[in-house]
Amino acid sequence: MSFLEASAPDYLPLAQMRQLQLARLRAVAARAYQNVHLYRTRMDEHGLGPESLCDPSDLGRFPFTTKADLRDTYPFGLFASPMSEVVRLHASSGTTGKPIVVAYTREDLEVWTNVMVRALAACGLTRGDVVQNAYGYGLFTGGLGAHYGAEALGATVIPISGGNTDRQIMVLRDFRVTAICCTPSYFIHLVERAAELGVSIRDLPLRAGIFGAEPWTDSMRRHIQAEGGIQAFDIYGLSEIVGPGVAMECIHQAGPHIFEDMFFPEIIDPKTLEPLPDGEEGELVLTTLCKRAMPMLRYRTRDITSLEPTRCVCGRTLRRIRRIGRRSDDMLIIRGVNLFPSQIEAALLKVEGTLPHYQITVDRQKDLDILEVQVEVTADAFSDTVSAMEQMQKRLVHSIETITGLRPAVKLVAPRTLQRSEGKAKRVIDKRIM
Ligand SMILES: [Zn+2]
Repeated sequence: MSFLEASAPDYLPLAQMRQLQLARLRAVAARAYQNVHLYRTRMDEHGLGPESLCDPSDLGRFPFTTKADLRDTYPFGLFASPMSEVVRLHASSGTTGKPIVVAYTREDLEVWTNVMVRALAACGLTRGDVVQNAYGYGLFTGGLGAHYGAEALGATVIPISGGNTDRQIMVLRDFRVTAICCTPSYFIHLVERAAELGVSIRDLPLRAGIFGAEPWTDSMRRHIQAEGGIQAFDIYGLSEIVGPGVAMECIHQAGPHIFEDMFFPEIIDPKTLEPLPDGEEGELVLTTLCKRAMPMLRYRTRDITSLEPTRCVCGRTLRRIRRIGRRSDDMLIIRGVNLFPSQIEAALLKVEGTLPHYQITVDRQKDLDILEVQVEVTADAFSDTVSAMEQMQKRLVHSIETITGLRPAVKLVAPRTLQRSEGKAKRVIDKRIM
């Protein structure tokens, strides 16, 4: 299938799209009911079944699925296919150190590749483009998701994965790369490091960046486009739904279009949980329409956005989400890695002499996310020798890195240094959004 044929659903007339969504919603609800204990129990409790869906809006009566459900059924409890049909597993970090596991059948991988082809085609990529894929390869969905999409598009893929900045710059220049996939903050880092090495990214053939896996602002986009001499596009996705490729910006850069034939979007009020109309801001809830191994019904993404009520000038009938800036839970995204304050807490508790009072500060310096953790230690530990305190600091850094994959700066402070709160402790100061 050519990418032009693959992109045909992007332009489906609305009535046809709603019809297709309804048929697929019924099928996915039936599959979930028949094969997944949790879904069957919940639908029975609510007196609902696949036949309750007469219109896509009927989905609003169905129960939600949350990250806690994935955690509680770890590792394979939400699978709707036997292992003999599952051809790939991915995982992302969860709240308690146990990852969230997601599964794909061969058909699921085809769906994923299909949406990634359409995503890359939407921002103007085609065969002949040379794509440097600097998303991490491995359990994280970013690397392989972008890889197979770019390959199926007919582009030339360089599977360089993340890290090793100097080598990234050499490849970017020597292989005449025209598009790069990575986090936006990492790209800014690349531009700055390149300048130190005497390489001007602006003067290279690079013309497009496909940036995702962390929230970023329009001012960051302007900065990237000016410094890199490229167009910067926002791609949206999450492992629980498929990985990258749930939504993608077209060449008009007016917010990511959701691939609505594959993922059904709703916006809810995160407090009342009631559905909200297009144009109103709330939490994005997604239902997979074609996933076989792990169908997701009404998954609460915790991402705060709205569905644009107007049609994009590109002519796609797919609705767009406003670019995502914040979340309705306490999850932080740091350098593309999901971090929950509870993970830091768990890491601190493993080291003797710490007190359960800590504060996490996230900042962006030179466009790279910086994580700092201040932790109160016992009076004994605080009055110990300098070398003993350095040892303790090292143990804390190691403990946090083991659990979160992020290396923080750790600062030990005396008991009762950190501000106490009357209500919910203010554990996190995110200076990136201040
Ligand atoms: Zn568009």
